[in-house]
Amino acid sequence: MSTDYDLAETTATRPKGGGSGRAREVPTLPLARWSGVEGRPLLVAGPCSAESEEQVFETARRLHGLQVDYLRAGIWKARTRPDSFEGIGAPALRWLTAAGAAFGLRTTTEVARAEHVDAALHEGIDLLWVGARTTANPFSVQEIANALRGCDIPVLIKNPTSADLGLWLGALERMSAAGVEALGAIHRGVAEARSAPYRNAPAWSMAIELRRLLPGIPILCDPSHICGRRDLIPGVAQHALDLGLDGLMIEVHRDPDHAWSDAEQQVTPERMGQILSELSVRAPDSEDAAFTRSLGALRDRIDVVDHALMGLLAERAGIVELIGQVKKDNNVMPLQSTRWRHLLEARLEEARTLGLEPQYVKAIYDVIHNESVRRQSEIVSGEAGGHGAAGVAPDPGDPGRSEDVP
Ligand code: PEP
Ligand code: MN
Repeated sequence: MSTDYDLAETTATRPKGGGSGRAREVPTLPLARWSGVEGRPLLVAGPCSAESEEQVFETARRLHGLQVDYLRAGIWKARTRPDSFEGIGAPALRWLTAAGAAFGLRTTTEVARAEHVDAALHEGIDLLWVGARTTANPFSVQEIANALRGCDIPVLIKNPTSADLGLWLGALERMSAAGVEALGAIHRGVAEARSAPYRNAPAWSMAIELRRLLPGIPILCDPSHICGRRDLIPGVAQHALDLGLDGLMIEVHRDPDHAWSDAEQQVTPERMGQILSELSVRAPDSEDAAFTRSLGALRDRIDVVDHALMGLLAERAGIVELIGQVKKDNNVMPLQSTRWRHLLEARLEEARTLGLEPQYVKAIYDVIHNESVRRQSEIVSGEAGGHGAAGVAPDPGDPGRSEDVP
C-alpha cells in the first residue's frame, strides 16, 4: 500500500524551499483572532449550493441558535461533469449576505477565480474558501492569491481531490506569500479507487502531517464531502475532533432530498443540531498529576517496545541483504511472488490470532516488503556493492535456495 501523500517529490522540486523537505514559513493568525471562536470547534454550515433566496433564508433561519459561526453556500460550483447545476453565480451573493445579516451569521463561499474573489469581497462575504478542484491547480490558486493581495479576509484551503500534500501546502504558501494571514485548511477527503464506504476517503495522516509541518494553521474537517452520505457524518466529525481538528464544515439544506447538488450528504438544520449535541469535545491535554504519571509510565513502555521493533527491523533488513547476495550469486530475481503470497497469508493469519487488524498488518508488510525488494534489487543489480548488513552473520544452515524471501 502506498502512503496517502507524497511530500518527498513535491518538496524536492520546490525551488525556494531549498529541497529540504520543510514547508516554507506560513505566518498565520490564530483562529480565535479572526473568528472569535476559542475552546470549541468553529462551525460552518449551510447548503452545498445556493438555489433560491427562500432556500438560503430558510436554511439560515432554521440554523439560527445552533452556535453556527458561518453560513456557507456554493455560488459558483465547479462540477466534475458538465450538464450539472453550476451554481446561480454572483446574484446569489446577496442572498447569502442578507440571510447572514438577518440571522446573525457570518458568511462564506467558495472562490475559484479572481472575479469570484472580487465579487465576494464587493458583496461583503466574511470568509472565503478554495475548493478541492481548485487547490489541485496552482495557476488558479495563484490567480486567487493575486486577487487577494492587500485584502483582509480569512481564507480556508481545501485539500486537493488527490492525496497530494504538496499541492495543499503549496496553496497555503501561495496565499501566505500574497499576504493572507488569516489562513486555514479544510480536510475533505481524497478520491481513491477503493474509498468505500466514503465518497472521498479521509486521509487523516495527510492532515496530521500538515499539522506537523505548519502547526499554526487551523484545520477544519468537512465530513459531508468525505462521507457522501449523511448517516456517516457523525462518526467522521467526532473522529476529526478527536484528532484535534479545529472545526467542522457541514452541508445543511432545508430539504436535503431535493437539493440541486450533493443531495445524499446534506442534512436538515434540525439534524445538524442533533449531530452537534451528540459530539464530544475532549481536552487536548490534562495537567492532572495521576493522568500525567500513568501516561508517562505507559509512554516509557511504548519507547521500550519501539526500540525493540527498530532492532528487529534492522535485523530483518540485514537478513534480507544476505538473501539478496545469495540471489545475486545464483542470478535469481529479487521478487518471488509465491513466497510473498505465502508470507503475507501467514502473517495475516497470525495477526488475526493476536487480535491485530489484518488491514493494519497488511499495510505494514507492504512497506516492509517494498523496502526488501528495493534493497535486494540494488544488490542483485550490483548497485549496492553486495555488502552484507552489519552484525548479521550468514546462516550456516542456509542452503541458499532461490524460493525464498524477501
Ligand atoms: C463544496 O464545499 O461544496 C465543494 C464543492 O467541496 P469540495 O471542493 O471539497 O469538493
Ligand atoms: Mn457539496
